[in-house]
Amino acid sequence: MKAVSVLSIAWLLASVSCTVASAADNCSFATVSFHTEFASGRLNGCEQTGPTSYTLHLKPENLPINPSPWYAFQVVSNGTAEQSLSITLVSHHGPARYQPKVSTDKQRWTPVDFQKTDNRMQFNLTLSNTPLYIAGAEIIDNDSYSSWLAQHRHGRVISIGKSTQGRSIEALEHRAANSTDWLILIGRQHPPEISGALALMHFNNLLWSDDAAMQDFRARYNILLVPNVNPDGVHAGNWRHNANGLDLNRDWKNRSQAETQAVHAKLQAIQAEGGRIRFALDFHSTWRNVYYTMTADYMTAKEQPLEQPQLVNNWLNDLATAIPFTVENKPSHNPNSGVFKQYIADQFGVHSVTYEVGDSTDRNEIKTTAEAALRALIKHL
Ligand SMILES: [Zn+2]
Repeated sequence: MKAVSVLSIAWLLASVSCTVASAADNCSFATVSFHTEFASGRLNGCEQTGPTSYTLHLKPENLPINPSPWYAFQVVSNGTAEQSLSITLVSHHGPARYQPKVSTDKQRWTPVDFQKTDNRMQFNLTLSNTPLYIAGAEIIDNDSYSSWLAQHRHGRVISIGKSTQGRSIEALEHRAANSTDWLILIGRQHPPEISGALALMHFNNLLWSDDAAMQDFRARYNILLVPNVNPDGVHAGNWRHNANGLDLNRDWKNRSQAETQAVHAKLQAIQAEGGRIRFALDFHSTWRNVYYTMTADYMTAKEQPLEQPQLVNNWLNDLATAIPFTVENKPSHNPNSGVFKQYIADQFGVHSVTYEVGDSTDRNEIKTTAEAALRALIKHL
């Protein structure tokens, strides 16, 4: 292991989860066993390949799928003596992606040194009688979101509907006394995208705080935050899809799924009561930090330009001067893509951005950037 940074999500509150995810197949051996009976746990088969060597298999929920081989498992010693283990993760249907992290409590995570070749990642562990959690990123499960939402002193926690498997889709709503303007924030359409989830949480920890600029903003803006649009996928440790095996961020045109329908119904209700959706952000993770934006001169299906066409360019230019990191603004549009930002543009005639964070972006950088992004954004709203 490196002499490393510790990644702590203790600020999320402890999330004690007893929910049972599907157990991995044949993962009990003479001296060690691998477990996934916890929320977001995932492995798809184990084999012993030497006295202290194990190969663990990672498979997606269904095909075709983007390569996001999520894994999260617990390693338990069957004895008391310390043992050294060599673990090889084999990703089926995609290259190895998420760098392994270890934790004893699912709150504080330490990166593990690893070697990667194509679809395999190998690393060593020292296992005592304290079980270890290994995962591709910090585990933020459904209970984490509930605890986190409940700790905000401003706004009201509501449910905007149910997922495919009947889980509540929770939201935090703020209503300003004399404003019809709404900011919409969503996240976790794609379950393994934890760096994006962290950005959403840092962004919102500031947004809903007593900070003077935020109080000022909340006095003139309504806010809807839906941090966990795909709770079934999060629970199952899915690579990308919801419980029906569909990519929610390709479903915003058809809205065939309970999750997209719930968000859409809520936004329609806001509009029906006179609210105006003014801007939306959707948090994700990918290989690098990038903001997927709408082109400034985009004309909606109604042949209308977007409101405040330069809003996003101005915002991201300001952000670039505020932080010492690269800000990549990648504009595009495709009315048939079914992605959330396109849906917002076409339905409400306003800008929307897919806020992408690199899988391995430094955790302090994620926080610094998210807070600076918010401070810059509210100056333009
Ligand atoms: Zn994504």
